[in-house]
Amino acid sequence: MDRLTALPQTYKLVRREARSGRTVVTLSNGATFGDESIAICAGPCSVESREQIEATAQAVSKCGATVLRGGAFKPRTSPYAFQGLGGDGLKMLRDAADRFGMAAVTEVLDPRDVALVAQHADVLQIGARNMQNFSLLRETGDAGKPVLLKRGAAATIDEWLMAAEYLLVAGNDKVILCERGIRSFDPATRNLLDIAAVPLLRSRTHLPVIIDPSHGTGIARLVGPMALAGVAAGADGLLVEVHPDPPSAASDGPQSLTFEEFESLMKQVEVVAQAIGRGIPARERPPMTTKAV
Ligand code: PEP
Ligand code: MN
Repeated sequence: MDRLTALPQTYKLVRREARSGRTVVTLSNGATFGDESIAICAGPCSVESREQIEATAQAVSKCGATVLRGGAFKPRTSPYAFQGLGGDGLKMLRDAADRFGMAAVTEVLDPRDVALVAQHADVLQIGARNMQNFSLLRETGDAGKPVLLKRGAAATIDEWLMAAEYLLVAGNDKVILCERGIRSFDPATRNLLDIAAVPLLRSRTHLPVIIDPSHGTGIARLVGPMALAGVAAGADGLLVEVHPDPPSAASDGPQSLTFEEFESLMKQVEVVAQAIGRGIPARERPPMTTKAV
């Protein structure tokens, strides 16, 4: 048997000391993660129809969201639940994002879909259930597109940073970490949003960190307070589920905000951001395309 070699177990590329400054991930529409502005990603859990995603893009972009979210390939706990619209959903998301000058983020579930998703999305989301799917991490790292890496529901900070390390080792340093809550003993909320992870990660890594208060709580009325807490704690952005009619949503309705709720949250986010010397992108951004709305 070969002599066992002691391999370094620690992460090298994602650690804070690996860079002199912080990593800023910039998307093609100008959205930035990791500078003084707070990046707002918003949209439905799942893309359900052209009308649904376009109405949502219009509503959230006018409040300062620059990244449209929407799942086309959905990781559902039950195989009988809505699985997403797949390739059609990707096209709807892309068109809606373009129409309102937004970037698009969507989840990739399977290494075989990476090329297809990368064709339509500006940011590839690796979901909580896949944080340690190492073949998906390698394939996604190779795709060259920015990656939103969610924390696994039972992942430690070290495991999460090691997962990010896989992406950097593959040559992709455009990685955004997303705290989305961890599983706790208490079913009172869907997950336990670990806000302390934000300042902790800021000392451990140069990568930007955002907060997902929607999956982090599972309860729409808790989303606003936790979003504000995340920004106050130093998050570089937010990922918020918004739906035109949450009770009829195909997935995650109970944690989705209405357009009105999102609009009032964004006003509060702006105040908190300013209080700590940051800001959110200006509201009523002009659309980047000339297509009629
Ligand atoms: C989602 O963003 O819709 C999602 C499924 O998130 P998570 O992987 O955090 O559960
Ligand atoms: Mn969801």
